[in-house]
Amino acid sequence: MTPLLKAEGLVRCYEGQKTLFKKSGTVRAVDRIDLTLKPGETLGFVGESGSGKSTLGRMLLGIDPATEGHVSFDGKPMPQMYSPEWRALRAQMQLVFQDPLAALDRRLTIADQIGEPLEIHGLAKGYALKERVSALMEQVGLRPEQGARYPHELSGGQRQRVIIARALATSPRLLVCDEPVSALDVSIQAQVVNLLRDLQEDHGIAMVFISHDLKVVRNICDRVAVMYLGRIVEEASSDEIFAYPQHPYTKALVSSVPLPGQSLQGRILLKGEPPNPAHRPSGCAFHPRCSAAIPSCAIDVPALENTAPKRRAACHLLNKPLSGKVA
Ligand code: SF4
Repeated sequence: MTPLLKAEGLVRCYEGQKTLFKKSGTVRAVDRIDLTLKPGETLGFVGESGSGKSTLGRMLLGIDPATEGHVSFDGKPMPQMYSPEWRALRAQMQLVFQDPLAALDRRLTIADQIGEPLEIHGLAKGYALKERVSALMEQVGLRPEQGARYPHELSGGQRQRVIIARALATSPRLLVCDEPVSALDVSIQAQVVNLLRDLQEDHGIAMVFISHDLKVVRNICDRVAVMYLGRIVEEASSDEIFAYPQHPYTKALVSSVPLPGQSLQGRILLKGEPPNPAHRPSGCAFHPRCSAAIPSCAIDVPALENTAPKRRAACHLLNKPLSGKVA
């Protein structure tokens, strides 16, 4: 089956900030990422802030240009941003933002904003447009009469439903959701996650789900990629990642999420903060914080390799004959 989305060797570099005392350096925000996403599949990206997951999400939509590497959608190369071909393709690929208030225009009514993509792509007008907007509002749990309101007249959860309705308007095949619930109250988060999951199941939309919240990711994703300083350090099915994490970083992240009915006994506390991406540690970038590190970890970069069918990890302890050091 042709993957809906494929990324090969993706790299995104930025110039770091120059200060009085330091020269600017190049920051590799995303570093040699390969991935595929099948139609209808949900792939989660997790990691601490600065891991490059949001940059990667924008690159997959062609919004952030790759310094190196390629993205293809439905077997064809991603067109250049703002080209007519890219604008046409955007109907099939939509982004759900973290902050719905910032993503909405305060001067336009909800109905106008949900209908906007339909007008831009010439998909509906007049009465058909009104009908489609009402149907989309009902689909995401809003009442059509709320369409006359402005963004500030809605709650945070309702505003995120508006963003989702607008993203669904063009019947996309791919949704990239960047921390879609992190700005919402905990009580509302579950409602929005359930809504996304139901919509995804009903319409078979493929989804890239970016989040630092592993509980949410476990709830919605088929597959999970764990990122650290711009690289994928482990990728596996959601069930495997949460039941049998292999990489020491994944083990620490997963240990901070209690399974239903379990306490946080055995939690692995990560040492320190993630390093500044402009000053990437040598060898395995995780080695200054890794309790399992061996001397070669500070020298050799571990490759992301298969550790089992459909599982990949980048760790010297996993990618050589088992030494018994893997806890
Ligand atoms: Fe830890 Fe070494 Fe594995 Fe990196 S390669 S995760 S430092 S054991």
